[in-house]
Amino acid sequence: MYSHLVPMTIIQLNLKALQNELEGSDGVQIVAVSKYYTAEHIAQAYELGQRAFGESYVHEMCKKHDMLPQDIEWHFIGHLQTNKVKYIAPFVKLIHSVDSMHLLKEIDRQACKLERTIDCLMEVHIAKESTKFGFTPQELVQALEERKWQDMKGVRIVGLMCMASFTDNEQQIRDEFHAVKQLMDTVKHSIFNDSPHFCQLSMGMSHDYKIAIEEGSTLVRIGTKIFGPRF
Ligand SMILES: *Cc1c(COP(=O)(O)O)cnc(C)c1O
Repeated sequence: MYSHLVPMTIIQLNLKALQNELEGSDGVQIVAVSKYYTAEHIAQAYELGQRAFGESYVHEMCKKHDMLPQDIEWHFIGHLQTNKVKYIAPFVKLIHSVDSMHLLKEIDRQACKLERTIDCLMEVHIAKESTKFGFTPQELVQALEERKWQDMKGVRIVGLMCMASFTDNEQQIRDEFHAVKQLMDTVKHSIFNDSPHFCQLSMGMSHDYKIAIEEGSTLVRIGTKIFGPRF
């Protein structure tokens, strides 16, 4: 247990405040987004009981995985190139950012080689920005209806992920999260009817996680609010 004889670091104070704030939000898990932060910073959050960490870059995630306790759950949240799947496949806990069937197929291939099943979220493109990756709602339904995923024994689709538009307009953010939650429910009831594990909705970052939770998020990906600004 954490000893209060040692003063908490800023990261630990930030995390504690967030943990307290989300205590009443049943079924919402914090993924601490540690990209650009060091293994030492991650260890500080680990001391407070945080186990799920999110990374956006393959090389960075592999390096930290090698340095840190093995019970950390590594979540990949960035754009994943197919030729790099093999590096994270042995240990990744959840890939949030599956943005093509081609990528899903490669994750399946690597997982099968290792005789494991990798949990994945399908990334939905809902924001106005064209820079964001992911399936449009229509593309997603189409791709899932082809049911190629049913033959992939190395992957398990456990839900959806999205990023809202980068804007101060809270109503727009709320509308986007709401639309993805509706898509989640539709897909769950039509395509994943027999799959109780299809239940994870990854949405919300430091600036919009409160709205995301109100709209049904189960995984909030929080970086800045825990670790501080990235330079
Ligand atoms: C960096 C990142 C986050 C965390 O962003 P913060 O604003 O620092 O909380 C969440 N999701 C994705 C996909 C990211 O790349």
